[in-house]
Amino acid sequence: MEKIEKFEKEFRSLSKLVEKQKLQAILEKKKDILFLNDRNLRCIDEGTPGGLHLAGSGVLVKDKNLINWDLFDGIYFHQECGAINFFIKENNLEENPDEFAEKFTKDLAKTYGKEFLGKINLKRPKHFHNALGIWICGLPGFDFSKEKSLPPGFIINPFIVKDLNYTLFEINLALNIIENNGFGKFLKDEKFYLWFINENPKRFEKNISSNLNLEIMKFNL
Ligand SMILES: [Zn+2]
Repeated sequence: MEKIEKFEKEFRSLSKLVEKQKLQAILEKKKDILFLNDRNLRCIDEGTPGGLHLAGSGVLVKDKNLINWDLFDGIYFHQECGAINFFIKENNLEENPDEFAEKFTKDLAKTYGKEFLGKINLKRPKHFHNALGIWICGLPGFDFSKEKSLPPGFIINPFIVKDLNYTLFEINLALNIIENNGFGKFLKDEKFYLWFINENPKRFEKNISSNLNLEIMKFNL
């Protein structure tokens, strides 16, 4: 019980940041959140903001040639990766997830001629996802962590893989993680968000499946 209260308290303090007008005003004023500090690939995890994003650094993209490799300079991995865990389960592998993440990204960097950048440190609580939703961002990119008054969320870049079904898969995966390993596990009736930045929600909304109570917000910057 005490634990749930702790999560609830943290959730309330973060959810204060979510209000459409407030977000709109911040996003319009802080255009530097659209400019990325680096062009390196990392996970969609809310703990790895900045740069460019694919779940597990691309582990779940079946045809790696669908990835626009020209976008990236280097590749990171991170520990405790939900996408890597998903891949290991799907393929019935007997691998240590953190070791597998490192090996996979090292091989990927080598294959596509990118710099292997090693482990990126997670900017979220250990063993817990504190995302209040998902930032689904079109070009040029988006970095919520540059502005303290923006809520944490998974970050999805639909322009990296030219396959709508893959992006939908990433959205549903992130929602599943929020539901099973994040606030959604404890606070089922609360609202969670899909924040579309320079992206059309209509392309996606019909195929999103989640038990979470979702609200869509759209911003053109
Ligand atoms: Zn991850």
